[in-house]
Amino acid sequence: MRLIIATENTGKLGEFRQILTDPPWQVVSMRQAGFAGQIKEDGTDYQENALIKARSVHRVTGGLVLADDSGLSIDVLDGAPGLYSARFAGKDAGYPEKIARLYQDLRPFRPELWTAHFVCALAVIFPDGSTETVLRQVDGRIAPVPRGEGGFGYDPIFYLPERGLTMAELPEAEKNRISHRGLALQALASLLLDRL
Ligand code: IMP
Repeated sequence: MRLIIATENTGKLGEFRQILTDPPWQVVSMRQAGFAGQIKEDGTDYQENALIKARSVHRVTGGLVLADDSGLSIDVLDGAPGLYSARFAGKDAGYPEKIARLYQDLRPFRPELWTAHFVCALAVIFPDGSTETVLRQVDGRIAPVPRGEGGFGYDPIFYLPERGLTMAELPEAEKNRISHRGLALQALASLLLDRL
């Protein structure tokens, strides 16, 4: 089953490829599928943004399209960076810079209060234009210092108390099993298999 992934984020695409290795899935990036445009993410929540991405790509490529909208939400920062995780501290800022800015914003709060969540919405659009969405999250804390080399984005600062490791310290397969994206994809994959 050819599944077009509506993302430019190589970290996300890599995770989808790792998770959807087995038949019936044949993962194709939106660029490989011929989508060369830019997508304006102006939805008001993760699901809406995921649907915007899926629809934009589907309009050009047709077929079965999957999109992800995700982010890091920190409770004492009122859920920031949230929907703006990719653009936080400026869209051209690298992750060391974004992370430094987050630690600066967190400085007024005691580290015990640094509870956080990774949230992922997935939207799928079927060849006939109908859609499904799922939303999953994983709970953790912001680590006192970044640790680990795996994953991407904010993974080095997302600490999982029950594992005693950051997301960037987990083996790939374990991140994919327990992460917001992994959980959302497990839910969506069973739904897709039922429907197709
Ligand atoms: P989007 O492309 O607007 O959905 O941006 C999602 C952003 O959230 C990413 O660019 C990262 O900054 C952050 N993010 C989402 N999922 C993860 C993850 O699994 N690890 C680390 N950062 C993530």
